[in-house]
Amino acid sequence: MSKVIVSNCDSYELETLKASIQDAVDAAGGWEKFIQKDQKVLLKVNLIGPKKAEKAATTNPEFVRAVGQLVKAQGAKVYVGDSSGGAIAGMAPTKKSFTVSGIEKVADEEGFTIVNFDEVGPVLVELNDNYNKDLYITKIFSEMDVVINLPKMKTHSMGIYTGAIKNLFGAIPGLRKALYHKNAPNPTEFGEVLADIHCAIENMPLHIMDGVISMQGEGPTAGTPYYAGKILVSEDPLALDRIAIGMMGINPDRVSILSASIRRKIGEWSIDKIEVVGDASVLEKYQLPKGYTQNIVKDHSKVKNVIDFFKVVPVVNQKKCIGCNSCVDSCPVEAIDRETKLINYDLCIDCLCCHELCMSEAVDLKSNNKMVGVVRAISSLFYK
Ligand code: SF4
Ligand code: SF4
Repeated sequence: MSKVIVSNCDSYELETLKASIQDAVDAAGGWEKFIQKDQKVLLKVNLIGPKKAEKAATTNPEFVRAVGQLVKAQGAKVYVGDSSGGAIAGMAPTKKSFTVSGIEKVADEEGFTIVNFDEVGPVLVELNDNYNKDLYITKIFSEMDVVINLPKMKTHSMGIYTGAIKNLFGAIPGLRKALYHKNAPNPTEFGEVLADIHCAIENMPLHIMDGVISMQGEGPTAGTPYYAGKILVSEDPLALDRIAIGMMGINPDRVSILSASIRRKIGEWSIDKIEVVGDASVLEKYQLPKGYTQNIVKDHSKVKNVIDFFKVVPVVNQKKCIGCNSCVDSCPVEAIDRETKLINYDLCIDCLCCHELCMSEAVDLKSNNKMVGVVRAISSLFYK
């Protein structure tokens, strides 16, 4: 039996948030069940892109502040991290996302350590019989004692819903996310990748969803804010998603992105095996994506073409390079030649470490396709 606590919370006012989150975590067993004094605790936020908090695309910065303060009160050290999406036009927006979302400011004020997954690099996790044989995921997870998942309650125009299970896709650093989208273009296959990621992470005992102001319509970035006034807490990410989906008025059979997690028993899905504490009634007039309401069958095979079209690769700009070798030493697969700084693309895993760590900004993201630059410029206008 899994348990999901649904706590009412009518604003992002700090004390209101803290009281609501505290009540919910108490009902889940109390902080001491999940965190010990002096532990390193990573808050895995949803930082999908450089979006301001009021757009409701990212975990709200005040929500991060509230959880962080409660974790810090347990004597733990707080880290806040993610890797933003950026497959389209090869942008590397994580750094900017921390700033624009307001999470960087909160972290500075509270003494939380920001972790840009694109900077710290990945580790290879062997998965044996799963969908992927292995996965490159951020190495920060293995350096933390505890990871707390802080998803945002949102609709998703392709996958219908995005929540606790999907939030871990950010564990894949850099542009490598595009490879998994390309190899698993439809929601059912992509759900296998998400289930793999959850199998690869062993120290994530708690999920706290920001549903105070959620996103409706064409999420995960182009929808509109919906005041839901809810915070969901669970040890079980799939059970949490099952309850959130019901509250949003989505038919659970239509969320194929979660079918792999259900089959592989990442958590509990059967509603009669989930104990709900609090008010999980259906939220009124929650707008769902058009693809859901109009039963549009999408041709997901085009995803591959779009990703190929916008493919970029890191290239060292020899004119700017000062030869410090920081990129060479940080590359997890030794793809950069120490003498020439040429990159072996057969080895490169698109993690973006070299691009993020070069203090001389000498690692460009380049494409042979001139349209990429145009689309990147246009896209950046919308990243506000
Ligand atoms: S980190 Fe930048 S400056 Fe240093 S060697 Fe690499 S490309 Fe050159
Ligand atoms: S060259 Fe190395 S550090 Fe740079 S993106 Fe490729 S794998 Fe990552």
